[in-house]
Amino acid sequence: MPYAGTPFDLSGHVALVTGAYRGLGLAIARGLAQAGARVVLNARRAEALEPALSALDAEGFEPDSALFDVTDAAAVQTAVGDITRAHGPVSILVNNAGIQRRHAFADFPDADWDAIMATNLTGPYRVSKAVLPGMMAARQGKIIHIASLMSELARPTVVPYTAAKGGIRQLTRGMAVELAPHNVQVNAIAPGYFATELNRALLDNAEFDAWVKKRTPAGRWGDPAEIAGLAVFLSSRAADYVTGQMITIDGGMSVAL
Ligand code: NDP
Repeated sequence: MPYAGTPFDLSGHVALVTGAYRGLGLAIARGLAQAGARVVLNARRAEALEPALSALDAEGFEPDSALFDVTDAAAVQTAVGDITRAHGPVSILVNNAGIQRRHAFADFPDADWDAIMATNLTGPYRVSKAVLPGMMAARQGKIIHIASLMSELARPTVVPYTAAKGGIRQLTRGMAVELAPHNVQVNAIAPGYFATELNRALLDNAEFDAWVKKRTPAGRWGDPAEIAGLAVFLSSRAADYVTGQMITIDGGMSVAL
């Protein structure tokens, strides 16, 4: 059946983006809003989120906020209930919230392992479960996990992050297979090196900065705005037959020797 209008139009959709006050999450929220979705930005702290809400508001969108910690199951449930009552069921979920901690594996603090797993792997599981009843009842949903080059490759000092992001790849596949009959598509975006606060220590390290630019065929870090189009595609009916995929966006790093 041919589409009426652009297949990338997100009008009428309610999109929840976790960890959305800055970085890739804010860029994705802005892209989804530009495509017509009603965006709900999640953060842990209202004051952190305020500038992002004001910016999107000034750009002509009407963003809403949802304050919760993705590791807090009860808070996630309450927030999704509130969003549903205010705007209708969430039809697009972007599981973007994530943290990084760097230590030698032999000395990795157990508390940091636990925090990374709780945020980067269990968080997406929890928020997905909270929005799924609404998606399944509507027989329509898009879930996008933010994976990483570390879903497939590895570097020293980030073993728990690598394990969690590897888990995200298989979470994507498992959910995709089970939820396809409900018309819920589940995909992942695997970013390469983007210039965000998560990578502050690497951006400020001249040697690492030079390595990224040399190792990446595009010769530079990714700009967060460059991730938005892929998120719009995966959120749209253009991707209704795309599920279980992890799409890499890395300036060519992962295919270069
Ligand atoms: P940022 O640090 O800018 O963004 C991460 C966001 O997640 C922040 O808003 C942070 O808020 C939020 N967050 C962390 N923990 C929680 C929590 N428990 N509950 C709610 N929100 C939380 O980094 P990026 O934009 O770079 O990262 C976004 C995603 O992209 C992450 O999943 C990251 O792993 C992934 N990624 C990033 C890459 C890059 O090169 N930048 C490469 C590959 C993947 P707070 O300040 O409150 O912690």
